[in-house]
Amino acid sequence: PVTAVENQTIAVLGLGRSGRATAAALREGGATVIAWDDSAETRAQAETEGWTLADLTRDKAWEQRIDALITSPGIPHLYPAPHPAIAQALARGVPVDNDIGLFFRSFATQGWESFDTPPRVICVTGSNGKSTTTALIHHILDAAGRPTQMGGNIGTGVLSLEPPADGEVVVLELSSYQTDLARALTPDVAVFTNLSPDHMDRHGGMGGYFAAKRRLFAEGGPDRCVIGVDEPEGRYLANQMGQGPLDDRVIRVSVEGKLDGFGWSVTARKGFLAEWRKGRQVASIDLRGVTGLPGAHNHQNACAAYAACRAVGLGPREIEAAFASFAGLPHRSQTIAEIGGVRWVNDSKATNVDAAEKALLAFDNIRWIAGGLGKEGGIAALTPQFGRVTKAYLIGHSARDFALQLGATPHEVVETMEAAVARAHAEAQPGDTVLLAPACASFDQYPNFEKRGEHFAALVAALPR
Ligand code: ADP
Repeated sequence: PVTAVENQTIAVLGLGRSGRATAAALREGGATVIAWDDSAETRAQAETEGWTLADLTRDKAWEQRIDALITSPGIPHLYPAPHPAIAQALARGVPVDNDIGLFFRSFATQGWESFDTPPRVICVTGSNGKSTTTALIHHILDAAGRPTQMGGNIGTGVLSLEPPADGEVVVLELSSYQTDLARALTPDVAVFTNLSPDHMDRHGGMGGYFAAKRRLFAEGGPDRCVIGVDEPEGRYLANQMGQGPLDDRVIRVSVEGKLDGFGWSVTARKGFLAEWRKGRQVASIDLRGVTGLPGAHNHQNACAAYAACRAVGLGPREIEAAFASFAGLPHRSQTIAEIGGVRWVNDSKATNVDAAEKALLAFDNIRWIAGGLGKEGGIAALTPQFGRVTKAYLIGHSARDFALQLGATPHEVVETMEAAVARAHAEAQPGDTVLLAPACASFDQYPNFEKRGEHFAALVAALPR
């Protein structure tokens, strides 16, 4: 339950999975909950579950006393314009918060001083690699025998987590939508993976977006900050969080340059992860054979996860052992089979050209399954990587456009996933990687990228061994 809400009336905006969990935790904590969702269908469903509805976008709902408005991550609260219910709250001086803020105000503080080893909270944010880094940290802790739970933007909503046990580490993935609204945000370890210009619409440009991420690193702030410093914003943040470059409160992460002259850093170059203290290398891990973390982008995730686990007291060898058993997240450069010396990789999550490029750079001798609902410009931006492709098997709506763009690169329009898997299986040689990285949305043939990846995996599982 959420604490310190007895006898309060709390409005909940958005009744999706996390909104309903939030409402339940508030009610358990003794609050009176009134709720709203823009979708009539969702409202009808909520009503059958016994929730009290009130149209929070209209004055009438606000004639009663409301102590706080709790919103869901998908709801715009400032930019480009606040949702009308949020505008109501702001105009009336009612505090606006979300489940993350409630988590830190109740779960993450209550009675933890009574534990032998107080639980710790690690929060992961950034533009890319959040889920992978979060899942990897959780996996390493688990493999090392530390009690751990994972949630937030991945898996379980924060208010549905179990009350933390002695010595437990709670690992939370937070999107910028979640961090910019939470009124309390006090992790012990904060991880900032990297910054790229996405989600700008919600935050009014780079400045607002960066400000949202930075809230995790507010005044006082976490004991340790793991910060990717390959972009100027990360370097700025790292400089701000430490008292000078030797302060080991900050662990800098880079996959580009050497990080000389800092108190604590973790780098990965040419497939080797290295930990540095005051310019001296203190540990090294060979990442080249780690199948769960292919490609330089995953080496960045590995560095961030390594640093976060070091920050909660794990040793380099424990972390190294756990890397080897990390299976990767479904649909993200995930090795799903090894058949007759051919590796099969599901990167159905590569719904755009950027993600497909990361995948093409992560493997060699690639038989590339691509296509679907293409985006503006098709795969022209991937031309520099075409040399890495032994042959492309093209599916979906964009197949013929992609065929034209591939030009002299061997390719075949096969239309369907079934045909792509069959052809690639017939033609692949030992040492090849068959890579599903469509560079396209899935909606021409599938409800979503997960279903596309599952279909691919099922076809691969049915191949003769
Ligand atoms: P997020 O949770 O931030 O969306 P994921 O871990 O789910 O990130 O990865 C999604 C996709 O983003 C991956 O398939 C890959 O293409 C790309 N990616 C993962 N890690 C990184 C990284 N460190 N830098 C750049 N791109 C990445």
